Amino acid sequence: MAANQEKKLAEERKHQNMQNDTKASQGQWGRAWEVDWFSLASVLFLLMFAPLIVYYFIMSCAQYQCSLTDPLLDLLMGNKHLSDIWNSTPMLTCRAAGIYFLWVTFQVVLYMSIPDFCHKFLPGYVGGVQEGAVTPAGVVNKYEINGLQAWIITHVLWFANAYCFHFFSPTIIFDNWIPLLWCANILGYAVSTFAMIKGYFFPTNAKDCKFTGNFFYDYMMGIEFNPRIGKWFDFKLFFNGRPGIVAWTLINLSFAAKQQELYGGVTNSIILVNVLQGIYVLDFFWNEAWYLKTIDICHDHFGWYLGWGDCVWLPYLYTLQGLYLVYHPVQLCTAHATGVLLLGLLGYYIFRMTNHQKDLFRRTNGNCRIWGKKPEYIECSYTSADGTKHYSKLLTSGFWGWARHFNYTGDLMGSLAYCLACGFEHILPYFYIIYMAILLTHRCVRDEHRCSSKYGKDWKRYTAAVPYRLLPGIF
Ligand code: NDP
Repeated sequence: MAANQEKKLAEERKHQNMQNDTKASQGQWGRAWEVDWFSLASVLFLLMFAPLIVYYFIMSCAQYQCSLTDPLLDLLMGNKHLSDIWNSTPMLTCRAAGIYFLWVTFQVVLYMSIPDFCHKFLPGYVGGVQEGAVTPAGVVNKYEINGLQAWIITHVLWFANAYCFHFFSPTIIFDNWIPLLWCANILGYAVSTFAMIKGYFFPTNAKDCKFTGNFFYDYMMGIEFNPRIGKWFDFKLFFNGRPGIVAWTLINLSFAAKQQELYGGVTNSIILVNVLQGIYVLDFFWNEAWYLKTIDICHDHFGWYLGWGDCVWLPYLYTLQGLYLVYHPVQLCTAHATGVLLLGLLGYYIFRMTNHQKDLFRRTNGNCRIWGKKPEYIECSYTSADGTKHYSKLLTSGFWGWARHFNYTGDLMGSLAYCLACGFEHILPYFYIIYMAILLTHRCVRDEHRCSSKYGKDWKRYTAAVPYRLLPGIF
C-alpha cells in the first residue's frame, strides 16, 4: 500500500517536472520572448546603420579607390559635403531594375518549377524533397532541395553567354553595381515588411510565431518561424539560399571580367578569391539538405535580419575582396599566393569535416564512425511546445571533442584567406574577417544560450565534457 502511494507520488512529481520543463522550453526555445535594452539598442543600431555601412563601403570603392578613411577626411576637412558624395552616386536606373527583376524572377522559376534532377545522377548528393528539423511547435516542414541545380543552370547560362551568345557583357554586374544596390534594398525592405504583416494577419503556422511586443525587435528578428506562400515557397530557404548566394559566384566572375577589361588580364589574387569563395558556395549547394539543420533554418525567425541581410548585406559585403581587386589589381608572389591557398583549403577542410561529422552523427543517430571510432556523445532530452518529450544526442568526439564550434573556426580560417589574398595596402577587404569573427562569436554565444535553455542540465554536462568554444585551450 505504502509502496503504491510512493509510486503514485513519484509519477505526479515526474508529470509536474515535465510540465515545468515544457514551460521552460516554450519560453526560451528559439529567439527571446522579451527584449532586454542591449538587444533593443543593437537592433536599432543595425536598422539605422547597416544600410549606411553597405553604402559607405561601396561608395568608397567607387569614389575613393576603396579607401575607408578618405571620404571621412574629405568631409571633416570641408573638402566635400555629404551632398557632393550623394550627387556623385549613381541612382536607380530602369536598366538595373530590369536586370534585377529578371534575376529574381529567374531564381523563383528555378526554385519553384524545376524539381531536382541532380540527385538522380550525382552519387552522394542529397536533393529532392527533404525534411527540416522539428520546430518549437512540433512541426516538421518539407523542402524541395534543388539549389545545386539552380546554381549549375545559372552558371552554364552565364558562361554560354560570355563565350557564345554575347547577349550582355560579363561585366554587367560591376557596371550596374550601385543601381543594383538600390534594387536589392527595395526587395530586402519589401520582403521583410511583407513578412511582418504576414506574421500578424496570415501566418503559415501561428504556433511558431513569436511576438515580443517590441515593434523594432519583431521587425528585425522576425515573427514567423517558417513563412511560406503555398506549400513550397519557403521564404527562409529561398532568400537565404538563392538570389544572394547563387549571385555570389557570378558577382566574383563579373569582377574578374572587369579586371580583364581594364588591365588586359586577371591577377592571381582575383583567381584565388574566385576559387576559394567558389568552393564555399558550391559546398553550400552540395550540402543544401544539411543546411536545413543549421541555425538559420532551424532556429531563426524570418525578419529584416534574414530578409534584408540576404538581399543586400550578403551579396554586397561578402564580395568586397573581388570589388577591391578591380580597383587594386594585386599580383601576389608565389609564396604569398600558396600560403593563402593552403590556409583557405585547410579552413575549408575543417569547416566541412566538422559539419559533416555532426550531420553524419545526427542522421545515423550515432550509428557511425568518427575518425574510425564509435562516436562519444551525451544523451539529452527536451520538450516541444506541444508537450512532447524528445531525445537527442550531443557529439563529444572528433572535431566536436576539440571545441563546441570548431566548424566556425574553420570558417574563420577560410574567411581570413580571402582577405589575405588582397595584400596589405587597405583595410577594406579585411572587413569580412572582422565581421565574420563578430558574427560567429555572437552566434556561438546566442546558440549556447538557446541550447542551454533547451537541454538544461544535459547542456551543462556537455560543456563540462567540451569546455572550449572556438579555440581549444584558449576560448
Ligand atoms: P551549427 O551547425 O554548429 O549548429 C548548431 C546546432 O547544432 C546547435 O544549435 C545544436 O542544435 C546542434 N549541436 C550543437 N552542438 C552539437 C553537438 N556537439 N553534437 C550534435 N549537435 C550539436 O551552427 P550554424 O548553423 O550556425 O552553422 C553551420 C555552418 O554554417 C557553420 O560551419 C558556420 O561556420 C556556417 N555559417 C556561415 C555563415 C556565413 O555567413 N558565411 C553564417 C552562419 C553560419 P540542436 O538544437 O539540434 O541540438
